[in-house]
Amino acid sequence: MCKYASRCSLCNRTLEVQAQQQDMNIVKIKISSDCPNLEPLVNRTICLDAIYEVIAPKERSLLYELLKHCHQQIESCTAYDIIKDSIGQNLGRYYELV
Ligand SMILES: [Zn+2]
Repeated sequence: MCKYASRCSLCNRTLEVQAQQQDMNIVKIKISSDCPNLEPLVNRTICLDAIYEVIAPKERSLLYELLKHCHQQIESCTAYDIIKDSIGQNLGRYYELV
């Protein structure tokens, strides 16, 4: 389990991402934030295909799709980039360790 924290430049809220790589593909993430925009996703376990999410363009990302549904100004919010970054870093660590 790895924790990543960053601040969204639009909402000016801290976003903390806990990521745990389950196997070569699946990552479980949990988001903590006091940003009201992200509330529907906070403290829920979200399973994603880490490799896909890192490679996929925004338009095809499942994570972006999820964020789009709950966040009004997701275009200018950096939450997506922060979470994607965390998934990428976590994936890098996982492959270093195995
Ligand atoms: Zn934001």
